[in-house]
Formats: sequence, C-alpha cells, structure tokens
Amino acid sequence: MIYLDNAATTYPKPRDVVEAVSDCILRIGGNPGRGAHAASLRAAEAVYDARCEVADFLGVSDPASIIFTPNATFALNLAISCRVRCGDHILISDREHNAAFRPVVRLMETGIADYSVYSGSGDVLANIRKKETKRTSILICNPVSNVTGNYLPIREIAAYAKARGFYLILDGAQWIGHGAPDRDVVGLADAIAVPGHKALYGMQGSGFLYLKSAEGNAPFLLGGSGSDSANPDMPETLPERYEAGTLSTPAIVSLAAGIRFIRRFGVERISEREARLSNYARESMSRIKGVTLYGNETNGSPVLSFRVKDVPPEETARRLDRAGIAVRAGLHCAPLIHRALGTFPEGTVRASFGIFNTEDDVDALVSALSKQSNI
Ligand code: PMP
Repeated sequence: MIYLDNAATTYPKPRDVVEAVSDCILRIGGNPGRGAHAASLRAAEAVYDARCEVADFLGVSDPASIIFTPNATFALNLAISCRVRCGDHILISDREHNAAFRPVVRLMETGIADYSVYSGSGDVLANIRKKETKRTSILICNPVSNVTGNYLPIREIAAYAKARGFYLILDGAQWIGHGAPDRDVVGLADAIAVPGHKALYGMQGSGFLYLKSAEGNAPFLLGGSGSDSANPDMPETLPERYEAGTLSTPAIVSLAAGIRFIRRFGVERISEREARLSNYARESMSRIKGVTLYGNETNGSPVLSFRVKDVPPEETARRLDRAGIAVRAGLHCAPLIHRALGTFPEGTVRASFGIFNTEDDVDALVSALSKQSNI
C-alpha cells in the first residue's frame, strides 16, 4: 500500500518509536506519579524526560508548561474551555478544524460566549480587524490548513493578537513538526495544541498542550493528580492542574522518541523534503486533465486537496484504494474552509505526504489518476 494520509496520522512509525513503546510496556510498567516504588519512579522519570524533550523542541524553557493529552482535540478543548469567561467574544479563522470549531459553537449555544469567523484569505489582519468587538478576548488560529496545506501569515497574526491583548490559542496539528518550530510565534502564543501522532511520529493517543501559564484558568478534567490529594480542587501548579487521571506512559514515550527521530533526521531537511514533494505533486497533478487542485501555495505543507471532474471525492478515494493508494475524501473535519473553497458539502480528496514518501509515490498517484479506467 502507498500511504498518503499522513495528515490524519503518520504511517509507518519509525522503528525507534516502536521500540521505545515496546520497551516502555515491557520494562517501565508502573503508573507515573502514583507511588514511590521503582516501577512508578521509572515511569515518572520517563514522563519527565519526555516533557523536557518536548519543551526543548518547542523552544520553551519550562517543561511544566507541557501538558500531555491523548490528541490535539483534547488539547484544544482544554485550552478553550479553561480560559473562556462568560460574555467573551472569540475569533476563529475559517481554516479551523472541528476540534476548535465545535467547542466554540457549543460555548455559543450554551450562552457562555459568542464567536465570529475571520477569513484566512487576502489581508488576514484586515479581516480580523473587521470581526473584532469590544468583548473580543480570545483569538484561535490554525496556522496550516489540513485541507489545502496553505499557511496563514502566523507571525503577523500572533503579533497582532498580542498587541490587542487577545489570548492566543494555536492549533499546531499540521504545523509543529513540519520543520523547526517558529520560536518567535511560540513565544507569543498562550496555548498551542499539538498531536503526537502526526508530524512528530508518535503513536496514536499521544499529544500535548503547551500552556504558557495556568494563571486565571479554570480546571478542565477533575480527578487524581498524584499530588496535593487532600485538596478538593485540582492543584494550582502545572502540569498537575491539567493532567487528571493516569497518563499513557507508552504514548508519551513514543512522542519523545518521535521527536528524537525527527531531530536526528533533521527538521530543516524534513521541511525541504516536504516542500520538494508537495511542489512535485502539485506540478505533476496540475497536468492531469479533469483534476482540479485546491490551494495554490508552493513550498506549502505536504497536503494536497483535489477533485476529479464528475467523480464524487468519496468515489475517487475508493478507486484509489482499490489501486493500493490510501487517501482521504470528504470535509476533513474542517467544514468552514470548504465553504470558502466552494467544495462544500462533498469536500475534496486529500493526499498528504510524510517523511517516508518519495517521488515514486507521487508518480503512482498521478498514474492511477491519469488512467481513469484503472482507478
Ligand atoms: N486540527 C487540525 C488542523 C487537524 O488536522 C487535526 C487532525 N485531523 C486536528 C486538529 C485533530 O487532531 P487529533 O486527531 O489529534 O485530535
């Protein structure tokens, strides 16, 4: 199988990641932070090492600001709901994934906060300004669309959000790991949600939220934290405040192993490779009659959306699957951008590349699409 669904989750995982998980299950064993015996201490140490690895990769000084979560969705829900206050107005881009969009819609439906959508096309700062109100207090932004692979001008957006005093929540799902994290943007963000199982090559069930500070933020999930147990509320300190319940040590260890892997491979090398591959795919596919490409960015993220004339996206994906090529079809959990692209409600077919893909995989996709009868 040629796997071109890396924006959903990367596959295969590096051998180092598989070995780290296996070693964790076989050798570490205990529950991190839940005892003083050797197995629990080994687990706590593994989690702490992973926290340091993530913080160092992101370029933040305090490992305690890294909160482990099962995925990016959990991290976004956490960031939004622990921050929002009654009467807030929230700005979200039209590139948002349902992981950010649905929590915000829910806040509106329950009368807690309202929101406006700013367009990620054209002059984005002007679009934001147009949607601001006196009550705007949170700005949510997905810097890289999981549908088109296009980048938003995130440096400018982050600087503007800070200048206006907005609480800035970034969705790092298609951003962190595709090259070196932009430390200036990270420095401006209040919260960044990141899945471990995509561009960081960890296993499914891994992810984290970078939270600059817990100050003024409500708890999210309540339960055991392994410390401050006489307190009926969650501890004030990070990361304990937001890590209720047993952590998945194997998932966390896999995330750290994934980061070590991409660092060894070279994060700059990854972005060069991804840009080369996505430019090559864009160029090759633009020559296929009847194929329309969406998003027009060169050197973008390795995500490519397209449609074949007169064939529903689901059908194209089915045919490609029969030809041994795994792609995804539909709205990709990001309905707003499809309204902007004019591809709602059928969506698009999405091919997304990872570190293990090559030009040959692109050629196979192009060949399968070209031979309409074969796909
Ligand atoms: N945001 C974006 C932009 C995504 O692409 C995804 C995954 N498709 C998510 C959030 C949700 O990530 P997860 O599956 O880890 O919850």
